[in-house]
Amino acid sequence: MAAGSGNGSDNEPTVARARLVLDLRARGLMDADVLKAIEQTPRIDFVDPAYAAQAEQDRALPIACGQTISEPFIVATMTHALKLTGREKVLEVGTGSGYQTAVLARLCRCVCSVERYRSLMQDAEKRLAALGLTNVSLMHGDGCLGWEGEAPFDRIIVTAAAREIPETLIGQLGPGGIMILPVGPDNGVQRLLRVTIKDDGALREETLMHVRFVPLVPGKAIFS
Ligand code: SAH
Repeated sequence: MAAGSGNGSDNEPTVARARLVLDLRARGLMDADVLKAIEQTPRIDFVDPAYAAQAEQDRALPIACGQTISEPFIVATMTHALKLTGREKVLEVGTGSGYQTAVLARLCRCVCSVERYRSLMQDAEKRLAALGLTNVSLMHGDGCLGWEGEAPFDRIIVTAAAREIPETLIGQLGPGGIMILPVGPDNGVQRLLRVTIKDDGALREETLMHVRFVPLVPGKAIFS
């Protein structure tokens, strides 16, 4: 940043995000559309001001209600694994901060996202509206049940770890659908899975990598 340019502080987040994109490329993430969506999405808007300095770094950070915003590499990897073309209707389970929702919204037709904490959902709704993302619908509910009124979905992404693949969600995936989700023990190492519904209706399961997510907890949260 040139000294005395006058708008240095305004440009800093953009520079930090460009650096983040370079870091993701260095880690092997080469999907140009996903990288562009990351570059267009100010992660700083989705984190607590206390973490502003780390907002555009490739690391997970705490958010309210004891939850986390995933590291951008994981967001990018999961988004890439969904094989989006721009035409899909996507269900997201676990809105959290809304960051993953925002990245998805730039790459598909529409996103329906479910969050069990009402306050997280409400905060995410404000952030997404402030970014002008209008192809997003949020619901306070139990994402283990999916979103029956909006099903079927072309894609499903679960951003909390399930003990096993939720059958209800498979039932809400349309023909040729793809679901990305972490599966495994709470607070342990989980497998990031891609489940694809093949033409004959059979399920194909692939393990993409090992990850650590907060658990998928059945039911709406009683507080906040
Ligand atoms: N994608 C989020 C990550 C949030 S962490 C982001 O980018 O910030 C996972 C989220 O899943 C948490 O907010 C948690 O409250 C939510 N979650 C866990 N179990 C859930 C359930 N059964 N239904 C809906 N949301 C759930």
